[in-house]
Amino acid sequence: MPTADKAEIHEPAALYLRTRADVRLSFGRAQTAPEARVNWAYDLQEQTLSRAGGATAVTSDDTLPVPKSRRATVENLLVAALPAAERRALLAASEPVRLVAGDTLMQPHDRIEHVFFPTGSFISLLTPIDQRAQLEVGLVGNEGMVGVSLILGVETSPVRALVMGGGSAWRMDVAKFRTALGASAALERGLGRYLYVLVSSFAQSAACGRFHQVEERLARWLLVTRDRAHSSQFHVTHEILAHMLGVRREGVTQAASALRQRNVIRYNRGDLEILDVRGLEAAACACYASAKDTYARVLAR
Ligand SMILES: [Zn+2]
Repeated sequence: MPTADKAEIHEPAALYLRTRADVRLSFGRAQTAPEARVNWAYDLQEQTLSRAGGATAVTSDDTLPVPKSRRATVENLLVAALPAAERRALLAASEPVRLVAGDTLMQPHDRIEHVFFPTGSFISLLTPIDQRAQLEVGLVGNEGMVGVSLILGVETSPVRALVMGGGSAWRMDVAKFRTALGASAALERGLGRYLYVLVSSFAQSAACGRFHQVEERLARWLLVTRDRAHSSQFHVTHEILAHMLGVRREGVTQAASALRQRNVIRYNRGDLEILDVRGLEAAACACYASAKDTYARVLAR
């Protein structure tokens, strides 16, 4: 079994927790006090995570959402869909890592060194607009993979991949990934289909940002984050929501307050809880259901 040290990808590797056990993370690289570190043991056989250390508060004004409670056992759906022998081969060529929220896994136009299959983590795909602004174009959790341009033979990423929710993932270096892709028709077919889903969602996001209201886009974003985080509770500031949706903070404040009045969310000082999933789905634009349908239809084949 790999040790926690081996499973960690950055130094200092840690998960940043608040005393109330919800995670609060900085938009760039989180600064961590040593006492805020948590030691994790990763059990390969069980694919479960157990916390071995205590945690204290780390605060930042600019935070990313992460669930207060995370499902302990989550598998990557693309990996799980492979025939058993090919799944075993893929995992044998990968290593389990713990991704740290706030870390950047790849930058636009930089050479990709690793691909990632998230299990308990989720990663935001961002496209830079200028020196200061960037827009989220996708959120990848255990349904997907980061580093998809390699499937097309392109060695650089068009987007920035920022860890939004820290947690477990399978990491594979590029050479091993290429070998695996060449050796498994099922892997090539599955990832090709996933790439189609991702391209569809990029196209849809472009239309969504132009034609749909902030309130319905916020509802969609909360539902997608809930799906990726496997939790209905997270900590997220208006500022982060404004970044993610590419709108002004005032717009987010109005939209959040409208959703609160519908009693579909509770939102207090950045602590957000989804109270009524059906109600939130009704408040979201059609893009949410459409993206889910596309994934189910294309990946099920
Ligand atoms: Zn939309």
